[in-house]
Amino acid sequence: MHDDYLQRIVSKTDGELLEMLLDKAADYRPEALEAARREVERRGLPLERPAPADAAPQRLIACPACGGTRFQESGASAERAADGMFARVLTCTACGRTGWFVAAPAAP
Ligand SMILES: [Zn+2]
Repeated sequence: MHDDYLQRIVSKTDGELLEMLLDKAADYRPEALEAARREVERRGLPLERPAPADAAPQRLIACPACGGTRFQESGASAERAADGMFARVLTCTACGRTGWFVAAPAAP
């Protein structure tokens, strides 16, 4: 569906992704920002910005189908020890899509 669009995002450089998320977020649509967050996380980049005082901590995982950020965990998971990344089977609560989601481990 948005393959070309998402492909442009994943082809951005690290700096472009961070700039997009940190400095130019207002210029992009929410789904583009979600895709960029996913890509930043996939690359293991530090995403730093001052958190609004009233903002809840947010996972950098979004559903590839609908962009939803709420999931139910199925319990299955796998860890790749080499880079500390892990994958979990999650079910999107918005659209019901189930799949493997790869995420960086929580920051210490
Ligand atoms: Zn979804």
